[in-house]
Amino acid sequence: MVLSSGDVHSVPTVVTKPARPEVRNSASLSSLLSISIWFGIVAGFGEGFGLLLFQRINWRQWARVMHVSKEILWISPLVDLCFFLLIGLLVAAIASLFRRMPAVRVLASLLAFLTAYDWLMLTGHFYRTAALLFALGVAVAFSRWFQKHEASALSVWRKSALWLTAALALTIIAIQGGKAISESRAVSNLPRAMPGSPNVLVIVVDTLRADHLSSYGYSRQTTPNIDNLAHRGVLFENAIAPSSWSLPSHASLVTGEPVHSHGMGNVEPMPWLGWSKSGLNGLPTMGEALQKQGYRTGAFSANRIYFTSNVGLGRGLIHFEDYFDGVGDSFVRTQFGREFARLYMNRSPKSKFTRAFRALGLGSWLDKDSEGSGDYGGIYGIRKRADEVNRETLRWVARERSHPFLAFLNYLDVHFAYGGPAGYPKPAWDQGTTIDEYDAGLKYTDDYIGRLLRGLEGLGVLKNTIVIVTSDHGEALGDHGLSFHGAALYWDLVHVPLIISWPGHMPQGVRIEQPVTNADIAHTVLALTGAAEDPFPGPTLATLWGQSAPKSWPNPVSELPQTNTIVAADRAMQGKIPLATDGWMISVVSPQWQVIRHEKYGDQIYGWKMDPGESLNLINTPAGRSADSALASDLSH
Ligand SMILES: [Zn+2]
Repeated sequence: MVLSSGDVHSVPTVVTKPARPEVRNSASLSSLLSISIWFGIVAGFGEGFGLLLFQRINWRQWARVMHVSKEILWISPLVDLCFFLLIGLLVAAIASLFRRMPAVRVLASLLAFLTAYDWLMLTGHFYRTAALLFALGVAVAFSRWFQKHEASALSVWRKSALWLTAALALTIIAIQGGKAISESRAVSNLPRAMPGSPNVLVIVVDTLRADHLSSYGYSRQTTPNIDNLAHRGVLFENAIAPSSWSLPSHASLVTGEPVHSHGMGNVEPMPWLGWSKSGLNGLPTMGEALQKQGYRTGAFSANRIYFTSNVGLGRGLIHFEDYFDGVGDSFVRTQFGREFARLYMNRSPKSKFTRAFRALGLGSWLDKDSEGSGDYGGIYGIRKRADEVNRETLRWVARERSHPFLAFLNYLDVHFAYGGPAGYPKPAWDQGTTIDEYDAGLKYTDDYIGRLLRGLEGLGVLKNTIVIVTSDHGEALGDHGLSFHGAALYWDLVHVPLIISWPGHMPQGVRIEQPVTNADIAHTVLALTGAAEDPFPGPTLATLWGQSAPKSWPNPVSELPQTNTIVAADRAMQGKIPLATDGWMISVVSPQWQVIRHEKYGDQIYGWKMDPGESLNLINTPAGRSADSALASDLSH
C-alpha cells in the first residue's frame, strides 16, 4: 500500500518516541579508538615480522620486492596504527550520522578484514583476489563470533590497547636506541688514530660511464665540480670496473679484490642469523682495515637493492644508511604503503591525485624508483636522491670529531630512470633524448657533489679529506644494441671515472693513462692514510703518480658470472651478441687491447684506443689472435 501525502497530513500526529535506552554505549569514541589501536598494533607487529621473515624465505625474488631491515618491526605497527586510527575516526563520523549503525561491529570486522589481507599478502604466494576473498571470509566469521562476544572482546581490547602502545614504544626505543648504543660503543672502542690522519670520502656515482664526464673529453659541460676535483688531484683516464653491475662491483670496491676472490657474483641468501665474518669469503674490508687505524666508518647508499647491509656489504661499516631515509620511504616499505604505491604512483603527472600531492609538498613521494620492480609491472619505491645522501653524510660527519672518518657514498641519480628529480632545472642541451636525460642526471649529481664538498668545507674537514670519485660500472646507452648494464663487458660498460684528490699531499692536475682497476682503491686508501697494517694485495695506485713509475702493471680484469637479472630490453640481444644470460664472461684490458671471453662463445678482442665503440672484433686477424693469446694468462682464474 502506498500512502498519499494527503494521508500523511490528514492525520496529524505528534509521536513522542519513548526515549531509547542507551544500548550503544559500546560505540563511544573511546571504544572505537581502542579497537583501532588494538588491531593497528597487532596487525603491524605481525606485518613487521612477516616482512622480514618472507623477505628471507622468498630471497630468490630479490630485486622484485621492496626490501626491509629490522626497523620495519616498529615502522609497520606505527603505520598500521595511524591507518587504523584514521579508519576508526571515519567510522565514528559515519556512525554519528547513521545512529542505528552497529559501529563497533562494523569497525572490528573491517579491521579484521584488513589484518587478514595484510598478513596473507606478506607471504608473497597469494594472488591479490584470492587474498581479498580469503580475508573477506575471515571478516565474516569474525563478525559472527564478535556478535556473541562483543562485551568481553571490548573489555580485553580496552585493557590491552595501553599495553600494546607501551610495547610499540619499547620496540622503537630498543631498535633505535640499540643501534645508537652499539654504534657509539663501536666508536668508543676504536683505537686512537695517528695525529693528522686524513678523512676518506669515497663517492660511487652508480652507472657512470667515463666518456660522459667533461674531464674525460665529453663535449657537454656535465661535471664542473668533478672536473675541479680532477684539477686538484689525479685522474685515471682508463679506470676499469671489476664487473658491469652493482653487486659484484661494490663487493670488489669494499674488499679490494676481484669478483672470483670475494665470490659475490650474484645475490646470496642472507644467513638466518645475519652476515658473519664468513661473508665475502672472509676477506678483510676497507672499513675493517680503517677501523683498525682508528677510523669511524659509515656508508650512505641510494642503491637499496645492491649496496646495503642486507646483501652482506655492511661488514666494517659502523653506520649504514640505506632504507627508511624519510617518512615516504618508510611508508612504502610497509604492506599498506606498498598498496598505496601500487595504486597511486603510476598516475599521470596531470592527475588530480598527483597535483594534490605536489600541492601538499609531497611531490618527492612520487619520484619513482624501480626498486620494487615497478618497471616490470610491480610497485615503485621512492627514489633516494643525492640531496638525501648528502644530508645523511653531513649529519653523520658533524656528529663526532674525535676520529677521522671513512664515508662511502653511492649516488643513484645517473642510473635509469634518467633525468634527475622532477623540478630540478634541466640543462640547456636537454631536449629529452635518452642521452640528454642521462647527462641531465649526471649534471644533477655533479651539482650535489659540489654541495657535499662545500658542506664538508663548512664543517672544516674538507682540507684534510682524501676525495675519491668513481663508479661501479658504465651504461650501454644503445651501444651494441644494449641499453643498460650487467649483460656484457664492453668498454662502455666497464670504463669508469676514477679521480683521487688530496691537495697538498698529492700532485695536482695529473692524468694517468695506464689502465687500472678501481678495486685498487681500497689498497690505495690504506697506503695514503699511512696504515701500519695493510691487508690488501697488489700495488697501490699511488705508485703511478710517484717519482718513479713502475715498469709493469697488472692488467685490470672485469668478471661477470652468469646471471638472469637482466632487463627485457637487453635480453632482446640474446643470441645476437655474447651475453651473460648464456654463461659467465671475463674481460682483460691491456694498454692497447680489450679481450672479452664468454664461457660458450669464446673470445672477442678490440683495439679500444682506436675503436672505443668496439665495433670491430679483431679476433680473426693475426694481430688480434696473437694479442689474444698473449693476454690468455690474465683470463685464467
Ligand atoms: Zn650499479
